[in-house]
Amino acid sequence: MSDTDLPFLPFALPDIGEAEIAEVVDTLRSGWVTTGPKAARFEREFAAFLGDETLHCIAVNSATAGLHLAAEAVGIGPGDEVITTTHTFTATAEVVRYLGADVKLVDVDPATLNIDVAAIEAAITPRTKALMPVHFAGLAADMDAIHALAHRHGLKVIEDAAHALPTTCGGRLVGTLASEATVFSFYANKTITTGEGGMLVTRDAALAARAKVMRLHGMNRDAFDRFTAKVPSWYYEIVAPGYKYNLTDIAAALGLQQLKRAEAFRARREAIAAAYDAAFAELPLITPPRARPGDTHAWHLYVLRLADDAPIGRDTLIERLFAAGIGCSVHYIPLHLHPYWRERYGLQPAMFPHSQHAYERMLSIPLFSRMSDGDVDRVIAAVRGAVTPAAVR
Ligand SMILES: *Cc1c(COP(=O)(O)O)cnc(C)c1O
Repeated sequence: MSDTDLPFLPFALPDIGEAEIAEVVDTLRSGWVTTGPKAARFEREFAAFLGDETLHCIAVNSATAGLHLAAEAVGIGPGDEVITTTHTFTATAEVVRYLGADVKLVDVDPATLNIDVAAIEAAITPRTKALMPVHFAGLAADMDAIHALAHRHGLKVIEDAAHALPTTCGGRLVGTLASEATVFSFYANKTITTGEGGMLVTRDAALAARAKVMRLHGMNRDAFDRFTAKVPSWYYEIVAPGYKYNLTDIAAALGLQQLKRAEAFRARREAIAAAYDAAFAELPLITPPRARPGDTHAWHLYVLRLADDAPIGRDTLIERLFAAGIGCSVHYIPLHLHPYWRERYGLQPAMFPHSQHAYERMLSIPLFSRMSDGDVDRVIAAVRGAVTPAAVR
């Protein structure tokens, strides 16, 4: 039962305007419903958005697909280990298992909830092949330290940038850093959306060539070029058992228009986050960390944590917000608590004290560009009411 007559305010909603709708209709009328000119244009415009047209951008039908292609292309396979954070969505880690390699989960920095670099270092073994940091909530992980560590140990770095469009790290956009590959998500609740979709970004031409072949069935149309200038239009060679990970032009049409609005979306989310920060400062709540001075936070998520002395627990706070008609989520139930990961690697909460402590106290409250100022005020009032003892309310 809801205590309110106001419409339910979900925790996330896509922001799709008339320009997106017109672009999709144009695609439908064009006859190109699968991968075609708009997917190619989306790749070029994504590189331009990142400010470096020499980047290879490879549009895929999900970030999960992009992470899988990147991990395959850097050569991860049976016997290898990949280190990532326990405080992420399972997609980050599952792609390593697709390839028969093993995942080493490590704890987070308690302030940022980003992967703890000291914990990475302690987890490196002779089998370690790659590191997969996640820019949690849209705040950059400590990429300078991660790249230095990777360089010292000869490891590949694949950034899970599902939350990080646009995020900067040391003044440079995520996607342009010194990693082997960076993967963005355009899932429905991400910072821009194509419904389902993702983008793999790399500076490495060989990695890009492999990912493009594996994106579509292991099909290579360039193979013929070496022998003759005249390639028949129908000719291709299958060089590997590839995947079906291409982005449709219908989805790319959405992406082309969403990309133009990415910075405006981010600015709106940042303004909402600032309003939340100010409103919650005096309450028994821990507000999310800011980006370092001069850096940009993508603000994909606004993750609140209840202070240890808060009068109610996280589950009660979520129940009270739902009763007030406000949707919430939890990012994330850490991987070490899920049966598959727990059982495969014999994991215990005590191995991940910071992630566990945060998980027990955290919730994500609504943060999306279509929220009105009235919606923001409503969330603030509901949170304040829920955590303030009735006597002083
Ligand atoms: C959403 C998400 C993914 C997966 O993105 P899809 O595009 O849905 O495959 C991967 N990692 C993180 C951290 C995410 O939030």
